[in-house]
Amino acid sequence: MNFELVRGICYIAASIFFVFGLKMLSSPATARKGNLVSAIGMLIAVVTALSAMAEIRWAWIIAGAGIGSTVGALAARLVKMTSMPQMVGLFNGFGGLASLLVGWSEFHGRWAGADATELFTMVTILLTVLIGGVTFSGSLVAYGKLAGVIAGKPILYKGQNALNSIILIAIVAVGVFFCTRRLGGVEASGLAGVYVALVVIAAMALVLGVLSTIGIGGADMPVVICLLNSYSGLAACAAGFVINNNVLIVSGSLVGASGIILTNIMCKAMNRSLANVLFSGFGSVTSAEGTGYQGEAKPVSPEDAYLILEAARSVVFVPGYGMAVAQAQHVVRELGEMLSENGAEVKYCIHPVAGRMPGHMNVLLAEANVGYELLVEPQDVNPTMKAVDVAIVIGANDVVNPAAREDRSSPLWGMPIVDVDLSRTCIVLKRSLRPGFAGVDNPLFFKDNTRMLFGDAKASVTQLVSEFKR
Ligand code: NDP
Repeated sequence: MNFELVRGICYIAASIFFVFGLKMLSSPATARKGNLVSAIGMLIAVVTALSAMAEIRWAWIIAGAGIGSTVGALAARLVKMTSMPQMVGLFNGFGGLASLLVGWSEFHGRWAGADATELFTMVTILLTVLIGGVTFSGSLVAYGKLAGVIAGKPILYKGQNALNSIILIAIVAVGVFFCTRRLGGVEASGLAGVYVALVVIAAMALVLGVLSTIGIGGADMPVVICLLNSYSGLAACAAGFVINNNVLIVSGSLVGASGIILTNIMCKAMNRSLANVLFSGFGSVTSAEGTGYQGEAKPVSPEDAYLILEAARSVVFVPGYGMAVAQAQHVVRELGEMLSENGAEVKYCIHPVAGRMPGHMNVLLAEANVGYELLVEPQDVNPTMKAVDVAIVIGANDVVNPAAREDRSSPLWGMPIVDVDLSRTCIVLKRSLRPGFAGVDNPLFFKDNTRMLFGDAKASVTQLVSEFKR
């Protein structure tokens, strides 16, 4: 039996599972199945890869799989829904670290045997360690910002871009030295130098990951998260070339490409170019601080908010990070159903950067069984917003900040938002007048047609539901 051929067929099957799984993940209706299909593909890939190994230390494989599965299962069960974004960021970083270690270990084996190594392999080892290192340390910073351990604002200092460029040039210089020493052709005394070069590259990659991520913050964070996700795929793809594993090359390319597409979507959602996000720092081009809009916010009681809603013929819900914190998605769906029964046309408008991870609001509303046909995007609902009777903002802030449209000095200037301020009445559910993740004050709270329903979003919506039931 030709085992090579069978393995090749298994790898193609695994790749097909990945492609179909990814396709299914693009719609909330099929996302769960897509996850399962991709997992099956991964199982086929892992088993096939193991079958190709001449000698396997099963104790290591079993211990690794056991520890990994335990950590994964515990994280899935114990980590709170609100901590999911930072957990996803952290796991993304571990993907980068794994690639770095694969590249390093392959190099170590060849170095110890002083095996002659092709230029191509040396370049792929270099790329694996470099991209893996940047992904790992960059993701740790992203984790810190999302978890609130590090300030969410960009950390900017003089000569930041120049320092990053110097590190990049140094990496290229040491990288050229590293790649042009082909181990087998190097004198024994020169072997240590090649090893030191790789360690220096790994260290500089880790530093570059931190320095290039701390300068990005505020509302630009979604772009960074998607970009790091893409890097982790590229690192895996390079690792696939290092160990000559086709399915790793395919899966790495899929993650890298989909991450870049997502990065592009997020850039469009922020109306910023990628270069602008990477090199200018959120809000640094305009006034970095909130402008402190003055005015009188008009609080509304749940009873009065109910009367407004009861008379409404069209209602748009705009969920944000606060809905995730309050875990209000189930009562929001209940309220939506009651409004529909009352004769109102109900829609849920999801801004691409709402929440703290791509697709955050879609996941929550899908969990609450909100019909997919009710979900719309800002560009669908904005043109008709003036005809909407009530826009209910559930714990969203930055994505509904009209300063993005009205105030050139605002750091959010130019970002497309959900134009809730143009609706006939806007009801904002949040606990205070505090700003959102970007730290920018919101003039929406002081508009004539805005009513503030203060309190925890879940408690407020539950009160509205009780009013309807009564
Ligand atoms: P924001 O972070 O702008 O605002 C969330 C609001 O929710 C807060 O102002 C807070 O106000 C309110 N809130 C918090 N807890 C509760 C609660 N229990 N009940 C009611 N309200 C609550 O959220 P948005 O979704 O509008 O915007 C997302 C922001 O995060 C954007 O700046 C985006 O760039 C950024 N980001 C997005 C990522 C993504 O991938 N989607 C990733 C990283 C960052 P109060 O304290 O007064 O209650």
